[in-house]
Amino acid sequence: MSANSPPGKSDGGDPQDNRSLPSVPPNAMENLGARIRDLDVDSIRRYLAQKLGFYDQIESSTSSEKVLDEVSLEGIVNWIKSERCKNIITLAGAGISTSAGIPDFRSPETGLYHNLQKYDLPEPQAIFEINFFRQNPKPFFMLAKELYPGSFKPTPSHYFIRLLHEKGLLLRHYTQNIDTLERCAGIPEEKLVEAHGTFYTSHCLDCRKEYPLEFVKEHIFTDQIPICTVCPGIVKPDIVFFGESLPERFQRCLQEDFQHCDMLIIMGSSLEVQPFASLIDMVPDWCPRLLINREKAGVRSPLLRLWGVMGGGLQLDDDSVRDVARLGDCDDGAQDLADRLGWGDELRALVASEHERLDREGRVPAAFPSRSGCTPVSTTLTEHKL
Ligand SMILES: [Zn+2]
Repeated sequence: MSANSPPGKSDGGDPQDNRSLPSVPPNAMENLGARIRDLDVDSIRRYLAQKLGFYDQIESSTSSEKVLDEVSLEGIVNWIKSERCKNIITLAGAGISTSAGIPDFRSPETGLYHNLQKYDLPEPQAIFEINFFRQNPKPFFMLAKELYPGSFKPTPSHYFIRLLHEKGLLLRHYTQNIDTLERCAGIPEEKLVEAHGTFYTSHCLDCRKEYPLEFVKEHIFTDQIPICTVCPGIVKPDIVFFGESLPERFQRCLQEDFQHCDMLIIMGSSLEVQPFASLIDMVPDWCPRLLINREKAGVRSPLLRLWGVMGGGLQLDDDSVRDVARLGDCDDGAQDLADRLGWGDELRALVASEHERLDREGRVPAAFPSRSGCTPVSTTLTEHKL
């Protein structure tokens, strides 16, 4: 078995085994930067050497072992049902929350951004820029108030991910969303990486004192800026703003997880936001990848793929040996996949019973909630360009 061979059923769970990709350096951003820098010399040399037939071993080291019996949704289903697939990573973007009714604050229809114009924002995303926030936090808290009191329920896409967990197949769920609907759907905290942070906790920008959700909510709903009780610093929810680092947990988990991934499912993400978008290239070379999205995403040019730039992105053409796209509505895709896996009725029943429970319990508890509660807040907005 080569270093990039897929795992057998028996060799999972040990981070020290030898089936991993080359280890990921502690800082993923540094890693990506280094890979881009290396492209200049090494990748071009390798590409040319391969094309000129200088090195036989290049072919074998860059080719992927094919584990799918067919490169199609059915092939993916067969792989997931097989004994060899047991560590699925899901990556999700705003598309999994769309049907929950969470507004995009940049969309003209919601009028949210329009309402913020009185604050003279230089541009919509300034509301999530840390330097702007330090000078003028008011627009952010006004937006948070607008988006707080919704009645958002997790979507079938969220519950599909929970089903993967209940089937013992979910290694980790990485989300770009800050709407907390994964928690609400019952995906356990240890299975969850909120790559762009969360509203559940807040910190003082100056002394880093931690504050619970209730503290911030109380201020937001009385139109006050939450100020630290021990220093004059502003208290900011722990969502990641432009100009801030991604959560430590994100860095830590991705080092551990991706080398063990044997199936990657990307849901409702345009894969345009870094570094999240590059995660698709951190799985082993043979690892099947399924995109469930309205349109193709994450596809990089064939030339860059040959050069090995960040793994080359998804390959969604006839030559693909492991990448499959299920285009269309995200919830339809999740239900379709569940149906094919034989879990269709289970997913429908889970959605129905959980929605009924949430309706019964009320969506916005008066004493705004515990960590296990369900807190509808905001939408996906932070972006981190390389
Ligand atoms: Zn403070």
